Amino acid sequence: MLERIYDFIIIGAGSAGCVLANRLSADSCCSVLVIEAGGMDGQLMMSMPLACGKVFYDPALNWPIASDPEPRADNRIIKLAAGRVIGGGSSINGMMYTRGHPRDYDRWVQLGCTSWSYEDVLPYFRKAESNWRRESGTHGHSGPLTTSPPLKDRLFDVFAETGRKLGYGVTDDFERDGPEGFGLPDTTTHAGRRASTSQRYLRPALKRANLTLVCRAQTNRILLEDKHAVGVEYVKNGIVQQARARREVLLSAGAFNSPKLLMLSGIGPADHLHEMGIACAHDLPGVGRNLQDHYGFSVVYRTRGRMDFDGQMRLDRLTGSVLQWKLTGRGPISGLPLTAIAFLRTREEIPSPDIELLFTPASLDAQAWFPGWRPANGQKMAISVSLMRPASSGRVMLRAADPSAPPRIILNYLAEPEDRVTLLRAVHLIRTIMRTEPAASLVERELSPGVGACDDESVAAHIRATVRSMQHASGTCAMGNGQNSVLDPDLRVRGIAGLRVADASVMPVVIAGHTNAPTIMIAEKAADLILGRSFHGAAVGRSAALGAHHLT
Ligand SMILES: Cc1cc2nc3c(=O)[nH]c(=O)nc-3n(C[C@H](O)[C@H](O)[C@H](O)COP(=O)(O)OP(=O)(O)OC[C@H]3O[C@@H](n4cnc5c(N)ncnc54)[C@H](O)[C@@H]3O)c2cc1C
Repeated sequence: MLERIYDFIIIGAGSAGCVLANRLSADSCCSVLVIEAGGMDGQLMMSMPLACGKVFYDPALNWPIASDPEPRADNRIIKLAAGRVIGGGSSINGMMYTRGHPRDYDRWVQLGCTSWSYEDVLPYFRKAESNWRRESGTHGHSGPLTTSPPLKDRLFDVFAETGRKLGYGVTDDFERDGPEGFGLPDTTTHAGRRASTSQRYLRPALKRANLTLVCRAQTNRILLEDKHAVGVEYVKNGIVQQARARREVLLSAGAFNSPKLLMLSGIGPADHLHEMGIACAHDLPGVGRNLQDHYGFSVVYRTRGRMDFDGQMRLDRLTGSVLQWKLTGRGPISGLPLTAIAFLRTREEIPSPDIELLFTPASLDAQAWFPGWRPANGQKMAISVSLMRPASSGRVMLRAADPSAPPRIILNYLAEPEDRVTLLRAVHLIRTIMRTEPAASLVERELSPGVGACDDESVAAHIRATVRSMQHASGTCAMGNGQNSVLDPDLRVRGIAGLRVADASVMPVVIAGHTNAPTIMIAEKAADLILGRSFHGAAVGRSAALGAHHLT
């Protein structure tokens, strides 16, 4: 068996893993190995913002995962996505840049995550970012992650005006003004193309002699000696190999695969490991629990006239737009298929928004068309609601002790009555918006749930039949000091030395926004924690720098 030794081994080159690879290898004295199960990210479609929906579920770029049948969603299996490619989720996602509400991070502090308040994490959001605006207290201007202004279509003003009439604010910067009211998010793009962490963090660092990337290699388990992580076992080209870590193993395999790998390594709930026939190295009941995800559904309208978006989707025009985008990085292809978003409260008395609405200028199944080839489908628009503060949470478990078996994913959507009530209120709110001018003038009729669904029971039935994931899975290796916490606030796995987790799984509560930028922030902060640096780069002590033997 081949075996090599590195200072740090990073499992997963996703949103977080690529950040770690860049920041840790910036110190030429550290050798870093990154192991990624997916391949490189060269496909044209991936870099086109307008085509982002085409890569969301592409099996060539995704893990073959799905939920178990969901009892409160008509026993449906819910489709899930998780990038299996360098850049991970950031290579297949919707490119919307949001940070969540400052209160979310203050809540993390209440749950024992000291030094994760919004004030604490803001410097890391800024460090990551190269925002298109001027540098400010809110935005960074020299980080790797470029953000661009959203492309606004004609309908943005319609929804902004409708929002104002209903008493909501309209902003051109959710991060400066706070995520509430109507607006459009910045996009994580660079020169009209997707700005994944692979493109912006990993690739520029690959020229460093101290950074090694192994692609199409699946980690099977973390190697432990006396509750100390000393390396990993992975399979590349059918050959089982091992690599040793002098300093730390860093797990960045995402909210589904990070808990799976801990459990395959014998770290997790003892009873479940026993059931799976895995020797328990360390009983950590919280591993895989606390699975939180934003979930929701769409209300679809038939519009009075054809949508402008439909015109853009005519094959000849689309071809022209692709050429324009290839040559200049501009034009419709460089923008998202999104008219507006809104963060709203479904009840006055709550302190911050509990839903997000996404207004899309087409139905979710919009496709290219041409007379005589495929008919246009241009008189539809969809308003999707996403539950920002889900009370229901699920669990990731092993299906088998075989590393190639996908994990069992129990989402528990709609389990908590609070979520069901919030989603019903969201439908009422959407209907109010769409009955208010000028938005009302767009509408011919509601197609789904439909004009016939006027009572709460029929709307609830529609919700059960159509509820879907917004793909923000988090929380399965939560930091904090609760009974089910897996990590301490420095992201170290409780009870195991030399092992940290840094990805979306560490969030104790999912933030009320899209999760890519927060995951990148987590990895930026993790790099400083690992290297024993405070934000300004000062060393904070040898024990921290060495990942400390932290046995609890
Ligand atoms: C379809 C979709 C749309 C989204 N849209 C948005 C959006 O518009 N805005 C936003 O902010 N967020 C969005 N998100 C969410 C966001 O992209 C994720 O929260 C984020 O990418 C999570 O990052 P991560 O580092 O935790 O995991 P990932 O980015 O998933 O990285 C994990 C990496 O580890 C690798 N890996 C896993 N297991 C192993 C193993 N055993 N061995 C080796 N490698 C392994 C994976 O292949 C992957 O590359 C979206 C997500 C999806 C899926």
